[in-house]
Amino acid sequence: MRTAGPRPDLSKRRAVYAERCTYGSERGSEKPAVRRRQGALFLLYFEDAEKAAEELEITLTSRDGGSERIPMCGVPYHSAHTYVEKLIDQGYKVAICEQVEDPSAAKGVVKREVVRVITPGTIMEENMLVDQENNFLVTLTGSENQMALAAVDLSTGECHITEMSGSLDAILDEISSYRPKEIVLDESLADQAAVKEQIQSRLKCLITPHGMDAGSEKKLSEELPAQFPQYPELCDTPFLRKVVALLFSYLKQTQKRALHHLQRLHRYDARQYMMLDEAARRNLELTATLGEGKKKGSLLWLLDQTATAMGSRLLKKWLDKPLLSLEEITRRQNMVEALLSDFLLLDEVRDRMKQVYDLERLAARISYGSANARDLNSVKRSLSIIPELKEKLLQSDSRPLKELAEKMDELADVKSLIDEALVEEAPVSVKEGGIIREGFHEELDQLRKIQKDGKSWIAELEQKERDTTGIKSLKIRYNRVFGYYIEVTKSNLHLVPKDRYHRKQTLANSERYITPELKEREQLILNASEKSVELEYELFTKVRDQVADQVQRLQSLAERVAELDVLHAFALIAQKYQYVRPKVHTGSQLKIKAGRHPVVEAVTNTGEFVANDAELDQEDRQVLLVTGPNMAGKSTYMRQVALIVILSQIGSFVPAEEAEISIVDRVFTRIGAADDLTGGRSTFMVEMSETCHALKEATRRSLILLDEVGRGTSTYDGMALAHAIVEYIHDHVGAKTLFSTHYHELTKLEESLSRLKNVHAQCIERNGKVVFLHRIVPGGADRSYGIQVAELAGLPKEVITRAKQLLTELEKGTPAPSNTGASPDSSGQLSLFDPLEIQPATRETAASSLTSEEQEVLEAVRKWDLMNKTPFECMQFLHEIKQKLN
Ligand code: ADP
Ligand code: MG
Repeated sequence: MRTAGPRPDLSKRRAVYAERCTYGSERGSEKPAVRRRQGALFLLYFEDAEKAAEELEITLTSRDGGSERIPMCGVPYHSAHTYVEKLIDQGYKVAICEQVEDPSAAKGVVKREVVRVITPGTIMEENMLVDQENNFLVTLTGSENQMALAAVDLSTGECHITEMSGSLDAILDEISSYRPKEIVLDESLADQAAVKEQIQSRLKCLITPHGMDAGSEKKLSEELPAQFPQYPELCDTPFLRKVVALLFSYLKQTQKRALHHLQRLHRYDARQYMMLDEAARRNLELTATLGEGKKKGSLLWLLDQTATAMGSRLLKKWLDKPLLSLEEITRRQNMVEALLSDFLLLDEVRDRMKQVYDLERLAARISYGSANARDLNSVKRSLSIIPELKEKLLQSDSRPLKELAEKMDELADVKSLIDEALVEEAPVSVKEGGIIREGFHEELDQLRKIQKDGKSWIAELEQKERDTTGIKSLKIRYNRVFGYYIEVTKSNLHLVPKDRYHRKQTLANSERYITPELKEREQLILNASEKSVELEYELFTKVRDQVADQVQRLQSLAERVAELDVLHAFALIAQKYQYVRPKVHTGSQLKIKAGRHPVVEAVTNTGEFVANDAELDQEDRQVLLVTGPNMAGKSTYMRQVALIVILSQIGSFVPAEEAEISIVDRVFTRIGAADDLTGGRSTFMVEMSETCHALKEATRRSLILLDEVGRGTSTYDGMALAHAIVEYIHDHVGAKTLFSTHYHELTKLEESLSRLKNVHAQCIERNGKVVFLHRIVPGGADRSYGIQVAELAGLPKEVITRAKQLLTELEKGTPAPSNTGASPDSSGQLSLFDPLEIQPATRETAASSLTSEEQEVLEAVRKWDLMNKTPFECMQFLHEIKQKLN
């Protein structure tokens, strides 16, 4: 057994794997680990066996291969999925091989074929997917600054396409919003090592280069309109045509079957939505927390009151792409309002939706051919809820709710087909019978009757033999080896008439017999049973195919239910936490009255969260400089403003008493290095490059949050940078900005920058201790309260007292006395400030040996009012001094 160790480095492993496997007649084809189905095992051979044995911790054996032995290992057919899952997790692809001929009819070796290649981005298996998450495969083509993307989730049947231009960073931001499990790179892109490397390092998933030669591309372009009916209309640029062709070619190569559930292309332009780069999504903890990357504690976690998995996935997509269209935002808000104003309706809608299964994934599996009878029954049960759900919505006064209801297709035909065909409690297996309802198919009914009659004939025979022989314990039984037989216990053997039965088997306590007529009847029963199982399978697949023909209708119903689900979750949240409908508009005013941080509020005790106002506009209050000591609530305040904007633009209500939200095109965030908890990334360099990103890309319609920028370097550097950045945003960018800093010295900026306003997180000192009020009030903070915060943190009393003493002296501009315990005069030890002290006696002597310039400088330094100067003024002063002395 392998002991638990660090997780293997997948990127390396994949590299090795790809190198070894990149060969084959088709360009770019890969030979993945091959599994062959043989009886009840999947077997692996050669290197595949060696690798799999190691990864799966199973025994490596070998078999005779002529001159040498062939390494081999196997996994049971029925539990293969768990092994496949492990291999996929480790970054492998798995090819499934099946015998494609009937072994009894085949001449020589039975023909085998790869029936499907499972890759991380093409998983269809229910147990390998997370219900609440999409599983995207992203295909890319183009160049570093212009790419087309096709993001497909085979398990739900959705396919989004877009063309992107701009910096590679911005393009990667868009791609990363899909959190792809696998990326298929056009070969020409894959050849650009730097681009490939960036993609790899940012997205950390399996990357497969894929190419098409001119011949196959031409052939594909003829097939594409059949697969995607909107292809000619939507794919009107060379890159879009190429990316969809590439996707289709890869799916064909790996899936080896028709994919009817994948027909609808959704083309969008990233500029239709609010842009949220990866840093913003991460820093605002939209779908995962900063620290541990968990859903719990994120905005998604709070909002996810959805009743279905489809709703949960849609909510995540909405959070990734907030709207810019006022019309669409209003439409969503109207529905939330309608649901919120009718508690009864909200309750009833929720109750109904809870009974709806994951129609999206069910539809995909049905169409893919991997759904069983239970899946079809789940569809049926879901469909039986729809009429009631519709009725409830139609009773409401809300027009958009009614419209949504009217668009819901009940699929009554599909429901009654499944209902007529399948039994209520169907087995998991589709190949062992027991699926089709009595009365659905005449021939099947007859076959079942033969079996049933046969069985009662046998029961009658048993009774007859008991009567004739007088053996009361005589039994007729069945097993797979002998079929039906008569069993007599040892103690009764003497009662069996001679030559009445043929002896078949002797056991310790009994004797087993058969008779010709019993065998004849057995043949009838078994034939009928075998035939009926086959027939049931045939009938089942027919029904499944018929349902698959309606997959588009099922998908659009699923979409509607998912939308209703998310909106109802918004209503529930609004109800629970008393959110209000924000007035969203296209003007410049952003005004929040008594706003709260949705997540912090939810995890603090009721009534303890302090609500705060926020007001920003382009005219007077473009930049809010938020000062205040650590722990005073600056970060929370800034994030709550951004979260309220995002909530507004996904159509949700917001945690505030009132809110007026001007539509924001992008949110940028930079959380100072010292606050950035995510290990590894918290370097000053990253801090600056993210800030740079915001300065370059933001427009007047953007919202920028800069939280303690400049903290990652020395005080003066940091302050100077912070100062310059604020000025630049104020003068050149024009975006609404919240800028927090614990350098209270920066509050002076209010005098020189007309659209900058100071606010600060209020604290008071009580009995020498700082108390955070978490209240954001106008004006700048006057001090840092650093020592008080340190005291709260439990630093030793001596340290605190000494620090307070030093601070007082510093503020007075005179040195503090030594704290070494002895008197400063007599100890002979230097006090902290000794080196700076120039005694009056020596001052004159020193001065007399100085040049006139040096004397001037000394005088200027002496007069310089350090405590009332900005860092910038200090630097300038220093610069002048240097010039004088040189
Ligand atoms: P800062 O950024 O100023 O250091 P934070 O925003 O990180 O401070 O807030 C520190 C802690 O104070 C938070 O973890 C939260 O528990 C609490 N807090 C912040 N804002 C509020 C508020 N408005 N009401 C109640 N508690 C708050
Ligand atoms: Mg902070």
